[in-house]
Amino acid sequence: MHVESFMVGPLGCNCSILADLDAKKAIVVDPGGHLDVIQARLTALGVTVEAIVHTHTHIDHVGATAGLQIATGAAAKIHEGDRGLYEMLPMQSMMLGCALPAFAEIDGSLKDGTTLHAGSLEVAVLHTPGHTPGSVSFVCSGSGGTRVFTGDTLFRGGIGRTDLWGGDHALIMKSLNEKLLTLPDDAVVVAGHGPNTTIGDERRWNPFLAPR
Ligand SMILES: [Zn+2]
Ligand SMILES: [Zn+2]
Repeated sequence: MHVESFMVGPLGCNCSILADLDAKKAIVVDPGGHLDVIQARLTALGVTVEAIVHTHTHIDHVGATAGLQIATGAAAKIHEGDRGLYEMLPMQSMMLGCALPAFAEIDGSLKDGTTLHAGSLEVAVLHTPGHTPGSVSFVCSGSGGTRVFTGDTLFRGGIGRTDLWGGDHALIMKSLNEKLLTLPDDAVVVAGHGPNTTIGDERRWNPFLAPR
């Protein structure tokens, strides 16, 4: 399993490419912007995109979705709970001061407990609502251990804000305690913004998580 993450878009969203380099197939997580950068990495890796998936549909995580879909023909997947938020992109654009991206053809097939495949790569979908109604986390386990892509639900030393459209503080705490913190301590967390961390470090040091 090959995993790489890099910052894209106006608010520095972490975009990730998860790839089976033998099968030359990949999944792209949160193409928030900089389509040219994402495409250059895909070309360098020599992979085709099986799916474009999103931790949630805030504008900074979907900026290059339509362009990447046109370029690759891949399905663009969200959790159905975030469809309303996606349709509100013009309003998000005005309120957050980001350029309005083109609309992609999205499907709401990211359901809790389902698995995405690209070659031998398996990525499990966890519904982790609270930051937005349709926020999800992606978990993949391989020889390099477990990695979880938490979007804006969990950051190093922080958790997602819940004061935006559809945010719910009680719900994000439930997602954190009942879903993300049940992952192994050594699971690497790739957050929606900022540096990586581990579940164990966040369990111990994150001031927003109740001591357990
Ligand atoms: Zn967000
Ligand atoms: Zn974000």
